[in-house]
Amino acid sequence: MLMVGRYHMHFLEEGKWSDCMNEVGENNDCLFCKIVEKKIPADIVYESEDIIAFKDIEPKAPIHCLIIPKKHISTINDIDGSNSNIIGLMYEAAAQLARIFNVDKDGYRVVMNCNSNGGQTVYHIHLHFLAGRQLSWPPG
Ligand code: 5GP
Ligand code: ZN
Repeated sequence: MLMVGRYHMHFLEEGKWSDCMNEVGENNDCLFCKIVEKKIPADIVYESEDIIAFKDIEPKAPIHCLIIPKKHISTINDIDGSNSNIIGLMYEAAAQLARIFNVDKDGYRVVMNCNSNGGQTVYHIHLHFLAGRQLSWPPG
């Protein structure tokens, strides 16, 4: 095992380094994996086979949800041809949330932060779904 940044890395037999993941793709140290496993409670607003969405604990808008893949992916930098289908499913979930919260006509914003300069604090990719007020641009 090797420490790389905040992660314990394991060398997999197939020759790939991985974030401390078990055989079903959960990261044992990850807050959002624990929410997926229902070990930590969350206000879940949408769930499908591959995706879960729940209310942000510190909302930055009247409606602020986080759309995440059930399988652990740390950052956008880990997206490649083997897993990029999940991004489409996350945007499908965003369109569903827009209908659920009846903000599809008024509008909303989805954003994914990456690493330190992007403002990422939880290292399991998540699409912020923000709605319910006029959002400013550009972001701070
Ligand atoms: P990031 O800063 O990584 O883009 O976004 C992480 C988001 O996760 C933040 O908006 C933060 O409020 C939210 N968050 C952090 N811990 C929890 C938690 O335990 N439960 C929920 N529902 N949201 C959380
Ligand atoms: Zn995770």
